[in-house]
Amino acid sequence: MAKCLMLDVDGVLVDGRPGDGLRWDTDLLKDLGLNPNLLAEEFFKTEWTGIVEGRTELLPVLEAVLKRVAPTIKARDLIDYWFREDSGIVETTVADVRDARSKGISVYLATNQDHMRAIYLMQTMELGNEVDGIVYSAKAGCRKPKPEFFDFAAQEVGRQPGDLLLVDDTLPNVEAARSAGWKAVHWDGTERLSAILHRSLY
Ligand SMILES: [Mg+2]
Repeated sequence: MAKCLMLDVDGVLVDGRPGDGLRWDTDLLKDLGLNPNLLAEEFFKTEWTGIVEGRTELLPVLEAVLKRVAPTIKARDLIDYWFREDSGIVETTVADVRDARSKGISVYLATNQDHMRAIYLMQTMELGNEVDGIVYSAKAGCRKPKPEFFDFAAQEVGRQPGDLLLVDDTLPNVEAARSAGWKAVHWDGTERLSAILHRSLY
């Protein structure tokens, strides 16, 4: 029996825009005058891996990119917009996390994030009040599904791999967790977290 839930964030606990769940950049062109395809091409494709694995920092890298492709937009404003528009909490999942913790299950976020959004999730969105902690890629120095992420995460939470259950909507992450000796369930949105936990933890 696993004893500790390691919960993915995006697509499981947080899912797009508050209210409608659409992608955070759906209205980026209308709201900030920035084409999301340009941002994908010039920033996410080339810079994101380094940022999310903690080798580079989000703010200065985004500043440099915007200076080149959209000089009227401030990086800080874009980050504020992005994090705000990507903060739709899945209330049923939060409720099930609370219920699991009331039953003595430890719950950690296990997620690919840069340092800034990790802090935003825990402090501004107050998910720090809902979980026992966060293990994230920029701190780990590697991201899911790399095997090193799972070794780092198990060490961080002080558990044996066999005590850990990952719930994640990205299948390669689930497969990598199983290879690392974790239990893992692929989240496809068809059942609640409580149902998964009843099958896997209780
Ligand atoms: Mg996800």
